[in-house]
This record gives sequence, C-alpha cells and structure tokens, in this order.
Amino acid sequence: MAQFSVNPQRFDPYLNFKFRVKWDGKYVAGISKAGALKRTTEVVPHREGGDPSSNRKSPGRTEYEAITLERGVTHDPEFEKWVNKVWNFGSGLGAEVSIKDFRKDIIIEMYNEAGQLVIAYKFYRCWVSEYQALPELDANANAVAIQSIKLENGDGKSDYAVAEPGEISYTEALIMRPLAAAELLSVWENCIHKSLLDKSLNLLAAACAIPDLEDVAKLSIGERDARLLQLREWLFGSQLKNVAHCPLCSEKVEWENDTSTFRLQTYKSDLPTSKVFQLDLSDYQIKFRLLNSADMKRAMSDRAYSEQPSKLLTECIVELNGNETAVLERAEELPQETFELMSKQMEKEDPQSNILLQMNCPACQHSWTTSFDIQSYLWAEIDNWAKHILREVYLLARAFGWSEQDILNMKPIRRQLYLEMIGL
Ligand SMILES: [Zn+2]
Repeated sequence: MAQFSVNPQRFDPYLNFKFRVKWDGKYVAGISKAGALKRTTEVVPHREGGDPSSNRKSPGRTEYEAITLERGVTHDPEFEKWVNKVWNFGSGLGAEVSIKDFRKDIIIEMYNEAGQLVIAYKFYRCWVSEYQALPELDANANAVAIQSIKLENGDGKSDYAVAEPGEISYTEALIMRPLAAAELLSVWENCIHKSLLDKSLNLLAAACAIPDLEDVAKLSIGERDARLLQLREWLFGSQLKNVAHCPLCSEKVEWENDTSTFRLQTYKSDLPTSKVFQLDLSDYQIKFRLLNSADMKRAMSDRAYSEQPSKLLTECIVELNGNETAVLERAEELPQETFELMSKQMEKEDPQSNILLQMNCPACQHSWTTSFDIQSYLWAEIDNWAKHILREVYLLARAFGWSEQDILNMKPIRRQLYLEMIGL
C-alpha cells in the first residue's frame, strides 16, 4: 500500500502536535501531551539439550504499556472525576470504588495540519493507576503547572473506520456546508441589530467557515446571491412562496416558484473577485471587476454615491486604455453611455445579481416584472424559524428537562414527534 493512497501528492508523514482525546463520548479539554502507545511482548528463551549455546526465542506475554495523559492544571474536573471512580477517599465503606464504571474506553485521535481526522486509536477498559494532581511547585520556574493521569489498558487497536481523508486545498475553505440549527440560531442572535447586508455576510461566513467578513464581502453580488439561494434550499427546501401587489389595482398576487428557476449561476469554489472583464469600445478599452457587497456597503453609507451614480462603477475599473485620439486621464470623464454598457456587461457576467420575476395580475390582467431579493426573503424566513424553534426548545425543555443544545441537535421530525407527545 502506498503511504498516502488518497492523497498521493502528500510527501510528509503526519506531525505529532494535533490530537484530541475522547472518553464517555466527549473530548477531554486541554490535553497537551499523550504518552507513547506501546506494547511489548516478552521474550521466552529456550534451549534444547543438543543446541549450540545461543537461545531460541519465543513470544510470551504481550503487555500494553500505560498511557500517560498530561494537561495544564485548570478547574475542569474530568481527571479527578475518573480518578475518584477508582478509589474515592472518604466516601464510606462499600462506596470507595465505582466498580461498574471505573474502566472507560478511550479514543486518541490524530489530525493533519488542516485539522482533518486522519488516525484514531481505541483503548479498551482503561483505568487510572496514577494521578498527579499538582506538579512540583517552584517559585523560580517558568512553566505551566501540569497534572497527569496514567492509564492501564488491556488492549488497544487502530480504528480502521477512520480512513485517510481527502486533503483540502485553500480555496475549498469557500465551499459551503449546511448550517446546523444551533449555528444558525447563533448567527441570527448575533445579527439581530445588523443591516440586512451584514446579516447575509455573517450567514455566508458561517456556512463557508470564513473568519473574515471582509473576504465574504468581496464575493460578487451574483456569487453571493447564488450562495444564499443554495443555503435557502438546504435550510428550508426549494419551494419559494410570496405575495406581491399589482401596481395598477393593488390586488394581492400570490406566487410560487422553485429555487431552480431562480438559479442563474452556480456558485464557484474560488474567489471570483480577482477576475477582470473587458469592455472594448472604438476609442478605448476598459478592464473592470464585478460589483461586490463591500461596494454596496460603501455606497449605502456615503451620500456621494447617490449624488453621482457612476462613482460606484468608476471604482470597479481596474485599467483604462485609450488610443491616441481619445486619451482619457480619469475614469470619471467617461461618458454616461459607457457606464451603461459596462453595467449591462456586469449583469451578463454576474446574472444572479438581478433576479427578475414576471408577474401577472389575475384581476386586471396587468403584467409587470419585479425583482426578487433573496437576502430579505431568506432573512425573513430565518427570523420566523428562530422564533419558532425557540418556542419548541422552551416547550420541550419544560416538559422533559432536556438542554437547549440537545433539543437543537434533534432533527425537526423528532422535535415534532415529542411535541405531539405532550399534546402540542
Ligand atoms: Zn391588477
């Protein structure tokens, strides 16, 4: 077998600094060092009567060496809780050993540099044979106080269910994933007082795991909205419903559509910000980038943009080349028609930025086009969803005493069934 069959481009063995230790299904906080995993088989020497003086060697008993886990001294009681199960001083005769659960299975997980799980080892029936609650204290040392436990274990083996993961490249950080209920709720909570644009950017940052909002703001408007549409589909399905009012007779017109009819571009996995487009006119040539959320944000906060609409487009121009008869010093001097052409080409290159909806009034037969704004539509839904789910958490927590986290982690169908059980 090749050393790395899934990632043949990988050359380096894994580094030893990224790992986590798990017991009782939870990660143990703050472990800074896990001792070597080692087993030794005793050698049984043997010699027959006619043999030369050298030995024959046979394998004898195999012993698993104890694993030592170290971590800085904190108020997390996990080490002490386990130690006390083995022998609990002062708990009275008959209660000093928690016989049923003083042994635990532990899992040591190792990660690659990008934080992907690569190898896991399971150790069965471990118990604590040595516990160092505090290290030697030294007023002149420059070191963290370390506590440690030594775990005796019967046997351990590699967890073959953990396969080599496909390694990620940097641009994949922009790949989106659906948000879990708890994550969505925390985005909603953190954005309550923010502008709609900031709400969308925060939502995308969470779904793409991009820590810097400024990076998300550099996505072109079409790219951003294509991603929001995808998120909507993951969160609430593909059916979109809304009402509009006829501009002539103000009749209420309900419409229903599938997200697929609105999808004019599929979102890309790399940042399209650096992409430059070209507009060739008879006298000059313009190279420009697409409008993005950062541009919109600037335009919303500065009146200069509403007074001079071409200002925003001017700022998207990255290069301006004129021939000898029309040397343009500054992009601001371009004629209005040029900005219109540029704007048209932008729309063509970034179609999702403007979703138009054909409407027909059943009362007066008037037909008109209206634009569909995925940002406000999606956020209104999230707003509703959040209030709804908080109510579910309240009802279920009150009835069953479960934690908010546990309730949020349930699939909606399970929450629904439990709600029915309490007559709701
Ligand atoms: Zn009408």
